[in-house]
Amino acid sequence: MKSSKYKSAIAAILGSKPEKIFLYWKGRVALYAVLKAMGVKEGDEIILPAFTCVVVPNAILYIGAKPVYVDIDPGTYNFDINKLKSAVTSKTKVIICQNTFGLSSNLEEINEIAKRNNIYTIEDCTHGFGGTYNGKPNGSFCDAAFYSTQWNKPFSTGIGGFLLVNNESIITGVKQLESEKIKPKFYEGIIVSLLIRVRKYLVNEYTQRMLTEIFRLLSRHNLIIGSSQGNELSDIKIPNNYFKDISPSQIREGLKQLRIIEKKNELRKLNAKEYTQFLKSKGKNYVSEELFNNHLFLKYPLLVKNRELFLEEAGRSKINLGDWFISPLHPIKGNLKLWEFNEKDFPIAVNISSKVVNLPTEIKNNRKVLNFLLNNLNQIE
Ligand SMILES: *Cc1c(COP(=O)(O)O)cnc(C)c1O
Repeated sequence: MKSSKYKSAIAAILGSKPEKIFLYWKGRVALYAVLKAMGVKEGDEIILPAFTCVVVPNAILYIGAKPVYVDIDPGTYNFDINKLKSAVTSKTKVIICQNTFGLSSNLEEINEIAKRNNIYTIEDCTHGFGGTYNGKPNGSFCDAAFYSTQWNKPFSTGIGGFLLVNNESIITGVKQLESEKIKPKFYEGIIVSLLIRVRKYLVNEYTQRMLTEIFRLLSRHNLIIGSSQGNELSDIKIPNNYFKDISPSQIREGLKQLRIIEKKNELRKLNAKEYTQFLKSKGKNYVSEELFNNHLFLKYPLLVKNRELFLEEAGRSKINLGDWFISPLHPIKGNLKLWEFNEKDFPIAVNISSKVVNLPTEIKNNRKVLNFLLNNLNQIE
């Protein structure tokens, strides 16, 4: 079976066992599964960073639990530990630690807090597959970890995701849910393969912006299998057929991609190192070097003074900068009340999400990007 081959390939990179890996249609579905397996129920509190992707609080809200956001530390783009400590209550059931842009949370300290309070921890490794923390693969330190293989993640199967369960006591719960997974329809697998081909053969530096816009528009209107179904971005009701299994086309693509992931991650780290050296030498904001050899830099975050202008200028110079996370609950612009998020409680996340752009790390030659930065130094914080 291809799926057991895929699980073995993933487990090998994670230094784990295939029996501990579970496959899903998307990363968010893996999160939903593990929350259920942990026995999360209505009224339970789940702590998460106030700088994440909206599908994370969605998975929590679909179960009827309460997302409790914690503001971030501007140096790591992850939890401010002191604020995390004061967010813990007797109702806290889980803490979700995120690899933001590939950067880890302070996992020892968080796990200690969790253990003391009888709380589960889940690592959101959707940006961090293939990276390590203190010498161990991302995902090793918590009760469970989930990963995404959506378009822009460390490796891509179009859309897709999986779960790693480290805590044996949760495995039974996850296994029980396996039979509830909805099988993808045949045509859904075909569409995913088609989209992968479009991306491989038609997307280049000239077409990317236009094709991305078209893709986002079609997926907002549910005309294509997008990263999100239309109502996931405007509603907190669980979409139809949400709890879906992975398709054979995704598995096939995943096996291919896993063969080149290591090379890709090396390239990401190399570019990140050069961006850091450059930014540091110019007295601009950069990601601390202590975080270096451990992290894979899916994106390189950079704070700029006026993002709109900066992105326009980049577009003119044919540089594709990423736009993660343009909102504390990416990609929702505007009111976040529906997700129980009150902007005034999270000033750092709000400020950073208004200023951050991402430098590309998957490129073979970063000279053009460095030149662009040099020409726009006064726009960088
Ligand atoms: C992409 C992403 C997810 C969800 O992954 P999907 O596979 O798209 O469901 C979760 N958390 C974060 C931080 C992400 O960026």
